[in-house]
Amino acid sequence: MEQRSLLVLYGSETGNAQDVAERVGRDARRHHFKTRVVAMDAYDIATLIEEPLVIFVCSTTGQGVEPRNMTKLWKTLLRADLPADLFDGMDFAVFGLGDSSYARYNWAAKKLQRRLQSLGAREIWERGDADDQHYLGLDGALDPWIDGLFRVLLVTYPLPLGVSVVPKDYLYPPRVQLEFLDGPELPLSEAPFSFPGSSPARLLRMKRLTRPDWYQDVRHIEFEYDKDVSYSPGDIAVLHPENDPEEVQRFLQRMGWAETADKPFRLVPNDQDGLERPLPEYWPEVMTLRIAFTRYLDILGVPRRSFFESLANFTTEEMETEKLREFCSPEGQDDLYAYCHRVRRTIAEVVTEFRSVLIPQNYVFDVFPEVRPREFSIASSVKRHPKQVHLCVAIVQYKTKLKAPRRGVCTSWLTRLREGDPVQIAIESGTMHLPPLPSTPIILVGPGTGVAPMRSFIEDRIYHEKSKENTLYFGCRSLDADCHFKEEWSSYQDKGQLVCRTAASRDQPKKVYVQNLIIEDAARIWKLVHENKGYVLVSGSSNKMPLAVRHAVEEALTGEGKLTAEDAKEYVKRMEMSGRWQEECWS
Ligand code: NAP
Repeated sequence: MEQRSLLVLYGSETGNAQDVAERVGRDARRHHFKTRVVAMDAYDIATLIEEPLVIFVCSTTGQGVEPRNMTKLWKTLLRADLPADLFDGMDFAVFGLGDSSYARYNWAAKKLQRRLQSLGAREIWERGDADDQHYLGLDGALDPWIDGLFRVLLVTYPLPLGVSVVPKDYLYPPRVQLEFLDGPELPLSEAPFSFPGSSPARLLRMKRLTRPDWYQDVRHIEFEYDKDVSYSPGDIAVLHPENDPEEVQRFLQRMGWAETADKPFRLVPNDQDGLERPLPEYWPEVMTLRIAFTRYLDILGVPRRSFFESLANFTTEEMETEKLREFCSPEGQDDLYAYCHRVRRTIAEVVTEFRSVLIPQNYVFDVFPEVRPREFSIASSVKRHPKQVHLCVAIVQYKTKLKAPRRGVCTSWLTRLREGDPVQIAIESGTMHLPPLPSTPIILVGPGTGVAPMRSFIEDRIYHEKSKENTLYFGCRSLDADCHFKEEWSSYQDKGQLVCRTAASRDQPKKVYVQNLIIEDAARIWKLVHENKGYVLVSGSSNKMPLAVRHAVEEALTGEGKLTAEDAKEYVKRMEMSGRWQEECWS
């Protein structure tokens, strides 16, 4: 069985690619492959040449950018000194997740596939492409792709004699056993918490930036560390949210676990053949059900299909088992979409509605997905605010057909924090950077909360470099309702440190957006971009804004610089290649 070893490597931004990787892993295990499912950045790349069979799953974000946890692997694969037969012992297949409304649809998956081929790896199954635009999401593409993959794999890697494929609904032993400990209860407040790369800080201040009666609640949040902290403008703060304690209590009651929720147990991993998906290393060895469902297991996210697959193992009423299995079948995808995704029904709501579900506690860590850390652009410069990290965050809350409003897990956790409360923050590099010289002009375009990283750039340039060549295009809906950091911009403006142009989209009958102001300022844009070799940095919604801004700058280049439309396009492309045009846009 030694050579029937399969590695699934995933590059995931929001968790979808991870979910796909785990599904491939489960199927590999059913086909008796010795399977590992590993995040690309958690894998030792030096050992990749020894892998006989690798399935890559990766998403593509925004304008064709690979997910952050793929960057290290991708950089290594791009090295020019790699021999063309480096991977000639490797079979591989790639599955990409993307959005076809972008020009560079599934770009990361496509370039990975080409690069592996050019390094001698053998592609054993055609690339799969899942499209966000497809109303059935990724399952529509994934099901047939996985079926095809294993059909092909069984030809090259036949099952050992006398062994058959494990049925889909077979229940494997759980990953861990809960070994309850005698002794006192372990309250949540006494359990230490940290995650990889994180350091302790506390909430210093939180202020609402939008008018109190405005429909959007955007907050300026300041955290402070005891020690010095180091980060660059444009970096990202990673936070690990906790689930709402009331929701956790309701959920524990529904499951019949409220009585024992604070009883400590030790997590004892089961020695399993096949699937090696260990619990994350940073999880404590001893915890309680309340700690698990507050910090580590997701109950407030929208469940993925794999969750329904797991639940179907634990129903006692046949009708419910049937309904759950139907949700997992290709024919049931419309129903699943309407039941779950359209109304953003949560995991806790689903288990409440399927009343006969009874999950043995040992399976808790198999059935419920993990809470994901969340990323926010840092909105401050450490030079201006030593020991501090600021954020500018829109609190996520909206209505669907369901009675209870939908709330973002992380942003509602943030609103529950009180001054002085401890938090853990990890800092990661962002993708946007200031030009090396403070004399190089910067044109920052950051509508809405996209202004967060722009505030870090502006503070850095003004307080450290004393630079004056700073222009900000900010977009809000109304000057007196959601013009974030208005006073700061005008005070910098008064001192001649910033040119701030604000497009208040709804203050007049006709919408005005940042791109309209850029077109109005064509002469200035031409001067800053062309004559003074300025940088353009764009962040905000990955929707239509980034492309519209690009077109607006191209228009300035054709109007003022008299370039042809084609040359203007080429000009911006060259700016991008040389790092003078940078975009970091999120959906
Ligand atoms: P938003 O939805 O982006 O709206 C801000 C302004 O942009 C509004 O005045 C809006 O006008 C306008 N707008 C709408 N469509 C536009 C278009 N096609 N072109 C130009 N402007 C347009 O603001 P938000 O609610 O604060 O959302 C911010 C977005 O930025 C989120 O998607 C968030 O994920 C992202 N973000 C990204 C980063 C980053 O990449 N580092 C950091 C923080 C936030 P109307 O609504 O009146 O049409």
